[in-house]
Amino acid sequence: METKIFPCSPESLALAKQTIEAGEVVAFHTETVYGLGANAFSDEAVLKIFALKGRPADNPLIVHVHKEYDISPLIDGEPPYAAALRKAFLPGPLTMVYPSTGKVSKYVSCGLNTLAIRVPSSPTAQEFLKAVDLPIAAPSANLSKHVSPVTAKHVFDDFDGKIGLILDGGACSGGIESTVLDCTGEVPQILREGLVTREMIARVAGVCGVYRPKTGERPKSPGMAYKHYSPRCKTAYFTREELEKAVVCYREEEKSGSPCFLCESEVCAILGDYSTLDLGGSPEEMARRLYALLRKGEGEATLLIGVEPQEKGGVMAGVLNRMRRAFGAEHGTKES
Ligand code: AMP
Ligand code: MG
Repeated sequence: METKIFPCSPESLALAKQTIEAGEVVAFHTETVYGLGANAFSDEAVLKIFALKGRPADNPLIVHVHKEYDISPLIDGEPPYAAALRKAFLPGPLTMVYPSTGKVSKYVSCGLNTLAIRVPSSPTAQEFLKAVDLPIAAPSANLSKHVSPVTAKHVFDDFDGKIGLILDGGACSGGIESTVLDCTGEVPQILREGLVTREMIARVAGVCGVYRPKTGERPKSPGMAYKHYSPRCKTAYFTREELEKAVVCYREEEKSGSPCFLCESEVCAILGDYSTLDLGGSPEEMARRLYALLRKGEGEATLLIGVEPQEKGGVMAGVLNRMRRAFGAEHGTKES
């Protein structure tokens, strides 16, 4: 199959609609990362996503809808704070988890009685979702465990010949996946950190929890248990305090291979002549650059050495979660 990359146009949107209605998948731009979408009402179409990605069967999918789509038939009620959160943050990089009515394919939520819904703000995503006018189940458009895609080329690199169409909206401005928020309880609870932060949600809802699974427990957001975002080269990870150790590691690798640091601008400046990939200075910049640099790094280096940025709160919570997991520095991950 030839994999076509098209920007949004009447012709490409007609092709996207036809492809979705035929039960096939379409990759599309969002403001977070590219998604691999299929009709959420169709068992067969949803199962194709799992097969294409090699995604574990217990890792549920987020359903994407356009901003005028009526989600009430899909959800079984909502707590009072949910409407205020929708008004404040949607369309945007916030996924809300509701009690499900079970109207979409059972494979979307992998046996959970909840449904995760997102309204992306990307004009490409909105045009695509309006053209199909269906809930579209879509995980990130990368092979399972690999780094998430933030350009159409990244999607092409993982799925060339395996999917028919990529709707190109340029580079993703957000750069890390949406915040996943459990809206089934009395207070909202973050299941996966992202660009909509705990502080932002608490300002609207009054309070916001962050879910941390106990050891051995099946996490509420099953995807968080898996090894993720891994570049295809050796990796090492150090804190800023361990910078000297990181340099020793670099020198050792240099004898037989080509090491490269991945770190914030300030540390790149200290590292001067060493080979570095610059994450930037602000949390938003680091979110936007992280995945593109991990993909660049795996193509150019034999060993990618991550140095953890100093800042920790707000948007950095999401960036650090992805970075630690990409470098295998987060505990509790399992192979999928
Ligand atoms: P991805 O689309 O690859 O970024 O992954 C989707 C994320 O949303 C994973 O971490 C899933 O575990 C999570 N997710 C999807 N549906 C649900 C749900 N019904 N309840 C909790 N988490 C969910
Ligand atoms: Mg993913």
